[in-house]
Order: sequence, then structure tokens, then C-alpha cells
Amino acid sequence: MQVQVIPGDQPLSQPQSDQLSPSQINSAQVCLPSCPVWASGRYHDDSQTGHSMDSPTETKHPDSYWRGRLTSTEYAVTRRGATEPAFTGKYWDHKAQGTYRCVCCATPLFSSDQKFESGSGWPSWWKPLEGAQILERVDSAHGMVRTEILCASCDAHLGHVFPDGPKPTGLRYCVNSASLSFEPSAPQR
Ligand SMILES: [Zn+2]
Repeated sequence: MQVQVIPGDQPLSQPQSDQLSPSQINSAQVCLPSCPVWASGRYHDDSQTGHSMDSPTETKHPDSYWRGRLTSTEYAVTRRGATEPAFTGKYWDHKAQGTYRCVCCATPLFSSDQKFESGSGWPSWWKPLEGAQILERVDSAHGMVRTEILCASCDAHLGHVFPDGPKPTGLRYCVNSASLSFEPSAPQR
């Protein structure tokens, strides 16, 4: 005998959800709120991103994010560790007063106050901005042991730091122009 089902009288089934189960979420790399992938509400696997919830203040993004935002030179330098040819960048001979920021994430890194003419063809500083978040990492590529410098916020390759700078630090932060954007100081009155 057929049971007549009255519409509206059926027990509610479990709603179908397209959300990930907790175990899936735990195994997925979760983006940060600053990332457009996060904003889209999707989770993605670690082949797409190096994001991690371990460091919530970092602004780490998948490679595709940077490819879409940077010029080819900026991408090659900051995300692939390339070096721009000497005397070709925007800032090696740039003398305006202001702040140099990471071209990727806009973190302030250097000031015109500590910039000096190194003769190298790359913009050079004897000291970063006070409190600037710069990572140092041993770089043994090209048969040399050098100290690579990176933006600590987004891992952008900046350049290298050498122990042959002027006083008082004796350091030379040798940076690619392509890793930087310049923000002029407000005009003096
Ligand atoms: Zn950065």
C-alpha cells in the first residue's frame, strides 16, 4: 500500500552542505583574511599556497597572486630571486626624500636618510628603517656565500647585505629597485 506523503510533513533530511568537514579543514592549508582566495571562501591545498595559520600576521600568497599583481621584472626579482642588471633600476640614482616600501606588500623597509651612493648600480643603504621586518638567509648560489635579505612579511627577495658598507654599521644593504616602491615625504614647509 502506498503511503501518501503530505508536502511539508516530511522529516527534514540533513541539509546538504558544500562546506568542508572539520577533518578536511584541518588537512587543508587555510589562507589568511588578506588573501583573495580566503575572501572567496574557498580552501585550497598546499600545492597552491604556502599559507599557514602558524603566523597569522604574515601576508603570504599563492604564486598566482603575485603573477597577477607584479610586472614581469618585479615578479622575477621578488618571487624568483633574480637580480636586476646594475644601473638599470629606478632607484640606484634616486635621491628624493621618502620611504622605500616592499613592492609586494608595502611594508616600509628603507628610508632615504640611510641611503648612500655605493657605486654598485643598485640602491644601497647602510641600515634599514628602524624596526623594519627584514629576514636574512645564507645564500650559497653562484659559488658565493652571501647573505640574502627578504621582506619578512611576504618573503619577497630584496637583495643581499654585505659587510663592506660605510660607518657606522659597516653594512651595505644592496637592494633591487624592482623590489621597492617609493613614497615621497610630505614637502617641508
Ligand atoms: Zn613584502
